[in-house]
Amino acid sequence: SKRARLDRFLSSELKIKRKDIRLMLAQNRVRVDGIVAKDIQQLVDEFSHVSLDDRVLKNNTPSYVMLNKPVGVVSATKDVKHKTVIDLLEHPAKSELHIVGRLDLNTSGLVLLTNDGRWSRNLMSPECKVEKRYRVTLQNPLSEEYIHAFAKGFYFEFEDITTQAAKLEIIGEYVAEVTLTEGKYHQIKRMFGRFRNPVIGLHRCSVGELTLDAYLNEGASRDLTAAEVNGIF
Ligand code: URA
Repeated sequence: SKRARLDRFLSSELKIKRKDIRLMLAQNRVRVDGIVAKDIQQLVDEFSHVSLDDRVLKNNTPSYVMLNKPVGVVSATKDVKHKTVIDLLEHPAKSELHIVGRLDLNTSGLVLLTNDGRWSRNLMSPECKVEKRYRVTLQNPLSEEYIHAFAKGFYFEFEDITTQAAKLEIIGEYVAEVTLTEGKYHQIKRMFGRFRNPVIGLHRCSVGELTLDAYLNEGASRDLTAAEVNGIF
């Protein structure tokens, strides 16, 4: 994560010279995470709490949120036409949050948001192979051959890649559960497209060990617990 020397941070935050910062520290006016700061070289990171006298200068506590995204809401922070997932939040830090793995406009379900870049990078990194589970409703009936095709992978010409082994479980004639360890553009729709079988409903149920809370209505969100934040991988 981004770290900066305390004097540099204060100097740019307060627009004053670094030698004046030294004086502030000598007067015991600066606190980092509640403790009086003595050392100008002390490092502060994105989640340090920094205060001057009684004024809070930096209070970026890490936030982690799960949201049940409705169809018709965009996975973006700004959009001129549609409501965004950020618009749905009532979180105090909502303007600082970014989306961990977008869903299409007409896809619903689990969306994670955070201001912790390291956590989201880990979750999204191809090496971590975090499993994303989707419930898919199809226009035409499914058959056993889908299972083998999804496990074998599909060649995507545009990206020049073959999709990683995906698990497909037949839940009903028109309903499947698909587990991916990656997230290419419109991946699930394109995979079923190979069978000329349009996806008419797509819902993300889980990311890693984290399952969308059944009591969370469409559009509702809640903070993750510490156990969920640490146990997702
Ligand atoms: N696959 C898709 O086609 N769309 C999504 O939103 C997620 C996975």
